[in-house]
Amino acid sequence: MKICRKCVLPETFPGIRFNDEGECNYCQDFKGKKNLEQRKLQYRSKFEKLILEYKGKANYDALLSYSGGKDSTYTLSLLKKQYGLKILVFTFDNGFLPDQTFRNIRNVVEKLGVDHIFFKPNFHILRKIFLECSKKNIFPDTTLSRASTICTACMAIVKFSALRLALEKGIPFMIYGWSPGQIPITSSIMKNNAKMVRVMQESLARPLFAVAGDDIKPYFLENEHFREHNFFLYNISPLAFLNYDETMILKEMAELGWKAPPDVDANSTNCLLNSFANVVHKERYGFHPYAFELAKLVREGYKDREHALIVLRQREKYRTYNFVSRKLKEEEQTRNKRTKYQKIRGRSKCLEPGKGRFF
Ligand SMILES: [Zn+2]
Repeated sequence: MKICRKCVLPETFPGIRFNDEGECNYCQDFKGKKNLEQRKLQYRSKFEKLILEYKGKANYDALLSYSGGKDSTYTLSLLKKQYGLKILVFTFDNGFLPDQTFRNIRNVVEKLGVDHIFFKPNFHILRKIFLECSKKNIFPDTTLSRASTICTACMAIVKFSALRLALEKGIPFMIYGWSPGQIPITSSIMKNNAKMVRVMQESLARPLFAVAGDDIKPYFLENEHFREHNFFLYNISPLAFLNYDETMILKEMAELGWKAPPDVDANSTNCLLNSFANVVHKERYGFHPYAFELAKLVREGYKDREHALIVLRQREKYRTYNFVSRKLKEEEQTRNKRTKYQKIRGRSKCLEPGKGRFF
């Protein structure tokens, strides 16, 4: 398969074009590392000005969407140690966090001394959504180049549940631990406005509503959240403009008592569902859902190209894929078994009203 000679994007990536030298259009458009470093300084100073303006004005300065993975752990540590922010940490339990992730989260939040909330939505609703996303893409096609459909669904619920909480508590900063590969620097500090958030919510919540109906309402914003005075808060992804160095991050993780969970895939440090989502995406679209992120990290000099290729070629653990698949399909299988059983029983007299057992 043809792969960009500079980054790692393959010819199967949506909309990709190569020039005669075998460089992809994203590499040709990249303005260079020097330019990027200047932009990072600008964003860093913008961030520091916002801190001066908002720090200490509310009970919490920031709400961090905390997955328990290495990037969001590092983000938390930076904001607490380097900037002294008062942070409310929010973790979404999608039913597939490894046991080690729960231990990591406890260690990290206790060591850093921050308030923490676990939010675990009804698993029956999540299962219905994830299962549907494993069968087809329910979101606009543009989302497919950045993430698997399952990840997009999960992230939509995480983002809007966290935003809802931040609005209700009057917290000025919504923080994400996106790596520089996951977010363009131009989106790393964004002031929310009601119109923009409504459009974003509409594009993500509508397809989920079609799967799960009213059950998803508590995870998204409702009319009262859209009042204009609510929208002073900023979305900030600090790793896009602060130092991002994997060796430094792993050193900090060790100091915080964070250990890599054993059963995750090469692109996740906190979620088992990710393995399943990757396999489904690769089979269906012929490219890795992390190709875009890794290509950007390589292009911008954060990651070695050879290492990125190894990561992209690494297969997910069958044991993890199987565990997720069984947990997602449990209900469906039970339902099918029952139907079969009912059909057999239905032929006998046992199911006559008032005489047989009913299921
Ligand atoms: Zn490229």
